[in-house]
Amino acid sequence: MTESTDHIQHTWILNHPVADEIVIELWTDGESVRVEGGEHQSTDGGRKDVDRFLEKYTLRGYWVSADYEVNDPHEPELPDDRPDECAECGQPCEYVPDHYDGYRTGPAWMCTGCKWGQWSAGI
Ligand SMILES: [Zn+2]
Repeated sequence: MTESTDHIQHTWILNHPVADEIVIELWTDGESVRVEGGEHQSTDGGRKDVDRFLEKYTLRGYWVSADYEVNDPHEPELPDDRPDECAECGQPCEYVPDHYDGYRTGPAWMCTGCKWGQWSAGI
């Protein structure tokens, strides 16, 4: 994404079985609301208008597939068994949901430095 999202406070993604995705944005001014997809619309009614759009599109068969604070970006949940650091070299570990070690595939914490890793209990 090249477009700046600094002005966006909260985003709602709406999906429909056959229609295109709709994105509703509430801007950081707490008033501006933009709807992309469906009928493009702009209002300055803030959260109240967001609720109005959500209700309107829900009645048309849409559901909210994602809903997140933009300045606190939406990230996949991580298991809470993250090692503090790699046992071998002390580098941080990153979560790999589908690591394959030659025998099995599963969630694992993998060192960002060396090849060390350990299985995770998953989310
Ligand atoms: Zn390591």
